[in-house]
Amino acid sequence: MLPSHPEPLVTAPAETALLSLLLTEGPLSRVDLARRTGLSATAITKAARPLIEDGYLHELPPQRTAPGAGRPVNPLAVTPDRQFFAGVKISDDTVYGVLCDLRATTRATARRPLAARDPEAVSALMADLVEELLDADPLHRARTRHLGIAVSGDVDRAAGRVRYSTRPDWQDVPLAEAAARATGLAVTVENDVKALTAAEHWFGEGTGTEDFALVCIGAGIGAGLVVNGRLLPGAYGVAGEVGHISVDPAGPRCACGSTGCVESIASTSAILDTVRRTTGRPDLDFPAVVELARSGDPAARDAFARAGRAIGTGIAALVNLFGPERVAVTGEGLDTYDLFGAHIQVAYTADAFRSAGRCRLTLRPLAWDDWARGAAVVGIQTLFG
Ligand SMILES: [Zn+2]
Repeated sequence: MLPSHPEPLVTAPAETALLSLLLTEGPLSRVDLARRTGLSATAITKAARPLIEDGYLHELPPQRTAPGAGRPVNPLAVTPDRQFFAGVKISDDTVYGVLCDLRATTRATARRPLAARDPEAVSALMADLVEELLDADPLHRARTRHLGIAVSGDVDRAAGRVRYSTRPDWQDVPLAEAAARATGLAVTVENDVKALTAAEHWFGEGTGTEDFALVCIGAGIGAGLVVNGRLLPGAYGVAGEVGHISVDPAGPRCACGSTGCVESIASTSAILDTVRRTTGRPDLDFPAVVELARSGDPAARDAFARAGRAIGTGIAALVNLFGPERVAVTGEGLDTYDLFGAHIQVAYTADAFRSAGRCRLTLRPLAWDDWARGAAVVGIQTLFG
């Protein structure tokens, strides 16, 4: 029998507000919690009690707020090692795994080369990886019930299916079921950019914001959106596809079938194709193109400039549509930010409408393990009903 999905830990609004604040922001006094949640001190005490009894929260030793400020307060804090969450990111050639505690601190990492790509073989590989993470500490095995998996492409999280992915080449794969059978854990499968956005919203660049976007640039270009404090799933599972906003009707044909998409101009392979064509050198690889651009070659520099303008225009379109407070830019494209960053900024500033442009773009370099951490955070969020 497959492991049943654990029940959410909290469903009541007061407990949800209390636990999410303490998870994302760290210890807070009851007075601060009451002020931040709008709840009464009595309601805070009542909401905290079952979470303290279950070991998810504890009281810190008395802390005096200021000299002469009255009686000391005992801030409430999350007990990070009450529960652990495994997270896996499946990339082109490697499976990355992490084990995180409740506050998304990475406690163990592991990785495996991706050899066979059929779902059963990948599930067996993930099970092997998870075993290594659980072996790192006896507490891990006793307190891990959930595995989050991040995959690129069109993912039906509710059904646990990968509808379409090119990395690996999958169509309609019931991945959650296969992985649950292999690992014995409850499994959630999520689109990788959405998972990373959830992690950044709760534990990274977007902490404390209600409206936030994470834009990934590199081999693919995509975004995750947080609207009114919640990750936007999209009615049909797709939202935030900034890479497929058409910014040039006369631009190149995109893999999606449309024309002049941001991705068809600004992805790593699009930049490479452009420079090969304009220089007449089909032998070039991407590192050589980067070197050419850095040495001042006009054709290579121009390809990056055009890519930067496309990305900046795409981000401005996102910002104009939903007015986020902050946009974080990440992905392997940051490695060449020196070549197109200024163009991204110029196009963004020119195209963002009025006050929407007050939204800052911040750069957020992240490693592969952080993508796996994103998958673990999706697990942490299943504690909430
Ligand atoms: Zn497209």
